[in-house]
Amino acid sequence: MVELLDPFGRKLEYLRVSVVDSCNFRCFYCLPGNVCKPRGVRGQMGRKLIVRAVLGAAKSGIRKVRLTGGEPLIRKDIVELVREIAEIPGIADLSLTTNGSMLAELAMPLAMAGLKRVNISLDSLDCKNYNYITRGGELQNTLDGIDAAVACGLTPVKINMVVMKGINDHEVANFARLTMDRNLHVRFIEYMPMMNQEKSWREHYLASAEIMTLCEDIGPLTPLPEEDLHGPARNFFLAGAAGRLGFITPVSQHFCADCNRLRLTSDGKLKPCLFTAEEIDLLPALQARENLIPLYQAAAKQKLENSDSSPAAKGSACGPLGMMEIGG
Ligand code: SAM
Ligand code: SF4
Repeated sequence: MVELLDPFGRKLEYLRVSVVDSCNFRCFYCLPGNVCKPRGVRGQMGRKLIVRAVLGAAKSGIRKVRLTGGEPLIRKDIVELVREIAEIPGIADLSLTTNGSMLAELAMPLAMAGLKRVNISLDSLDCKNYNYITRGGELQNTLDGIDAAVACGLTPVKINMVVMKGINDHEVANFARLTMDRNLHVRFIEYMPMMNQEKSWREHYLASAEIMTLCEDIGPLTPLPEEDLHGPARNFFLAGAAGRLGFITPVSQHFCADCNRLRLTSDGKLKPCLFTAEEIDLLPALQARENLIPLYQAAAKQKLENSDSSPAAKGSACGPLGMMEIGG
C-alpha cells in the first residue's frame, strides 16, 4: 500500500477539503466584525476537479477525508460530491464539518451517499445568543440537524463549541450536560485569533484549563484512553454520562507533533500546515489531468515538525486568511 510520509516519519493519511469558501452564517469568531458578507474570495472548484484531487490523494496514501468550508451544505451538488468521493478506492473514512443549519433535510441523503460521520458547530443553546454569535442563525434548525444526524447513523456526532469569555462561557456546563443522556461528543475549542482579529481574541480567549474547570462544576472528569493518536482532542467523560467531552487546544497547547493532515483549499491549493503561508497549486495539474502524486509528496515534504509559530505568538493563525478560505 502506498504511503505518504513527511520528513519526520509521520504517515500523512488525512486530507481536509474545503469545498466552498462562503457560508450562510457569519460567526463572530470566524469572520471579523468588519467583514459584512460571507467572503467567497478564493473561488471554488467544480465537482469533477475536487473528485480528481481526492483520487490523486488516495493514490498518494490518503485514507481519511473530511469535507469542510465555508459551509459545505450550501453546495447544491454536495450529495453527489459525497457519493463520488465515497466510491474512490482507498478512502476508508469520509466525514463532514457543518454548521448543521441545513442538515435536517440532508442527513439522510448524505448518509445514503456514503458519508460516515459529521461534526456540527454549535456555540450556544440559547436562541438569542446563537443568533448573535452566528449573526443570523436559527438555533432550532441546527438542533434538528443534530437529531437527524443521530437518527441517520452519522455517528459519533461531534458537537464543536468555540468557547469565548463573556459570550458563551456561561453555557459550558450546559454543553457538558448534553453528554449525560445522549451519546454526543461535545468538544470545546479554544478561540484562535484568525484574520488578525487580535483585539477581539484578547478580550474573549479562554484557555482550555479554565474551560475544564467550568465542566468540573458538574462533576469530576475521567480521562479516556486515546483511540486516535493523531486527533487533536483530549477526551474525558463525566460519571454516568452516555457521551464524552473533548478539549481542543490550538492556542494553549500545540498538537503539531502528532499532525497527520494536509488541507486542500476550495480553489485547489494544498496547504501542508494551518499556521504557515505555504501552498502548492494543484489546479494546473488537475485541469491537465496530470499525475498528482509528486505534488502531494511535495506538500508532505513541506510539513513542519513542530510549529513554534503558534497562533497566539503570531497574533493570527494564518495571517489575512480565515478558516473559510483554508477550510476549518
Ligand atoms: N461551516 C462549518 C462549521 O461551522 O462547522 C465548517 C467550516 S468552519 C470554518 C470549521 C470549524 O472551524 C468550526 O468548528 C469552527 O468552530 C472553527 N473555527 C472557525 N473560526 C475559528 C476560530 N477563530 N477559532 C477556533 N475555531 C474556529
Ligand atoms: Fe460559517 Fe462555519 Fe465560519 Fe460559522 S464557523 S461563519 S458556520 S464557516
